[in-house]
Amino acid sequence: MKALVIIDMLDDFVHGALANPRAQTIVPPLRELLRHARKESWPIVFSNDAHLPGDPELTIWGEHAMADTPGAEVIAELEPAPGPLELISPKRSYGAFDGTDLDERLRGLGVDEVVLAGQHTHICVRHSAYGALIRGYAITVPRDAVCTFAGVDEEDALEYLRTVYGARITSVEALIGRPVVGDVDHETPLGSGYDSGGVLTHEP
Ligand code: ZN
Repeated sequence: MKALVIIDMLDDFVHGALANPRAQTIVPPLRELLRHARKESWPIVFSNDAHLPGDPELTIWGEHAMADTPGAEVIAELEPAPGPLELISPKRSYGAFDGTDLDERLRGLGVDEVVLAGQHTHICVRHSAYGALIRGYAITVPRDAVCTFAGVDEEDALEYLRTVYGARITSVEALIGRPVVGDVDHETPLGSGYDSGGVLTHEP
């Protein structure tokens, strides 16, 4: 079973201390992927930086996504929903599996493949992919739902994931089985505005 793992789509990484202009571009595909994962009952993991003072990487990046601050909240467009299949997984370093119980939680749900999305392709997505590889998960990365920092080559980052971790590099369209139609009101309930084939039937 697949799980969708959304990495560090937090206020500080989109609008705040470590804001990345490229992050805005992945939000619409990510919203479609999130909608699809909910429809298909995939477990969804929000793998979120939640730093404490003294965490080693703060010496590199400065304070960001400090636990229990607004900067550590998932952006409103991708807000987690309550329920047993939506997991918040706080982390204090780059990798989603590092120092967390994510492996146990995913195995408990029967997950054997992780769809990695979010930020940044060359840092936390990369370290999470390594964590997934050594724990035996298949790895899928939709290229339009991840991003590097501006100035870092996205294709190089994806190629590393493919060649070193065996990640399948794909697209949100391929994963959800239809074109990404663009952004929709995130208040729109799942299914509203779509016909049974998942085609947008009217502008929300
Ligand atoms: Zn961090």
